[in-house]
Amino acid sequence: MPQQKTPRTRTPGSESEDGQRLEIAGASPSNQALRGLPSVEETRQQLAARLRDLGVETPSPAALIASARATIAHARETILAGGAAPTQSELLADALGLLYKRERPRLRPIINAAGAILNTNLGRAPLSQRAIDSIVSIASGYSTLEFDLDSGERGSRQSHTRGLLCELTGAEDALVVNNNAAAMLLTLAALAAGHEVIVSRGELVEIGGGFRVPDILAQSGARLVEVGTTNRVRLADYADAITSNTALILSVHPSNFRIIGFTEAPQLASLAALAHERDLPLIRDLGSGALFDTSAWGLTREDTIMDALRAGVDVTCFSGDKLLGGPQAGIIVGKCALLERIERHPLMRAMRCDKLTLAALEPTLQTYLDGGALALEELPIWRAISAPLETLQARARRWITELGAAGVSAEVIAGETAIGGGSLPGDTLPTALCATPANGANLGVDPAILTRHLRLGDPAIVARVARGQALFDPRTVAPDQDADLVAAIIRAWRAVLAERA
Ligand SMILES: *Cc1c(COP(=O)(O)O)cnc(C)c1O
Repeated sequence: MPQQKTPRTRTPGSESEDGQRLEIAGASPSNQALRGLPSVEETRQQLAARLRDLGVETPSPAALIASARATIAHARETILAGGAAPTQSELLADALGLLYKRERPRLRPIINAAGAILNTNLGRAPLSQRAIDSIVSIASGYSTLEFDLDSGERGSRQSHTRGLLCELTGAEDALVVNNNAAAMLLTLAALAAGHEVIVSRGELVEIGGGFRVPDILAQSGARLVEVGTTNRVRLADYADAITSNTALILSVHPSNFRIIGFTEAPQLASLAALAHERDLPLIRDLGSGALFDTSAWGLTREDTIMDALRAGVDVTCFSGDKLLGGPQAGIIVGKCALLERIERHPLMRAMRCDKLTLAALEPTLQTYLDGGALALEELPIWRAISAPLETLQARARRWITELGAAGVSAEVIAGETAIGGGSLPGDTLPTALCATPANGANLGVDPAILTRHLRLGDPAIVARVARGQALFDPRTVAPDQDADLVAAIIRAWRAVLAERA
């Protein structure tokens, strides 16, 4: 029978409004549920223990208490609102979630064991040590960003990379902006606003993340003139579309898709010849912008920046953080007269990149100039692309030996690494995957739960799940992350088993 307003004594300094309501509610089901909740201190201890299991550095005691307190308060609210009492493991998950929200940066490093070398969601190209050192030194103080030490006067932020880009690609001139989407928008705005731009229907692509060629063109103020069909376009189609109002011909790398079968398109060199005959520039959105010939590793031959220039393209735009292996940037190379118009356009100021980008880009370009072999070794994406299969097999075998010694069932299986980042769609490199549990054995470890633990751990790890196994690709894991990865898999495996117990 519910007690009504029973007078009660209060211990000085203890609870509270909540306590009173609790007392008034008497022996109601919600009262029982509230009494069943652990104390803040118990929750704090469980949280600390769980963090130790996850291998997470313990945050400040204040953060632990705050998260535990907020978790219990939230559980009480839920119960008082008529909701079900959370289970022990739900409470812990809540507390952990709150702690993550409070304490950990949202933008954090992860180990990419998922096997796509360039992934826009995971930050595309990791930088070389040389680029990282340069960022640290430039970020730590003042710099020559727009200052010429020789004259003691104002300099240009383009001066740091212009010479390197020209030397590497053979272009007359070069500009760097925030990303390739900005490079395209700026180039089209500067060279074609108010006029017509001719593009093949097969190249009116969407790259992803909202970059659609027709939309960028519209935003630049240029008018799109489509030629050909989805699968076939001839030189005559371009020639017939040229009018007195045509500003330029645009050629777009189809990036992340491929048209196969009954297809036709003029060679870039023929297109350049046509454009120049009619006094028009040919602009190429190259997308990835490789300096190396990807066919050396059994991949499709991706057009290089030099290919575009050799074909007679007047302005070529590409990304800094795709196959170039540098920071996010949009790089524009080509004829001086055209690049001067682009640099003078008012949008240039809105598109320019910051000092940290330039700090990373300059040494990345310098690495290529220092020699191809050095670039393959120092630039993480090229190290990944050029890693021999035997090396990857040896690493995967080492992983499973260490996992096996800790009681984690795993095996090495053959697999494929994707290039990603809108380059070489469908092309993969052979790799050796560490797969757990071995042979699809059902050991009570659900790979989806295992990979969730790995994502939430520290370091966070992303992996793939296929056919009942979690898959880890050494090609996308930096060799110095091997020990962290194996230790994390062991912790996650144990946590999954402990949860089931
Ligand atoms: C990736 C890509 C872009 C966009 O480049 P961002 O550097 O991501 O802005 C534009 N065009 C093509 C063909 C691409 O592949």
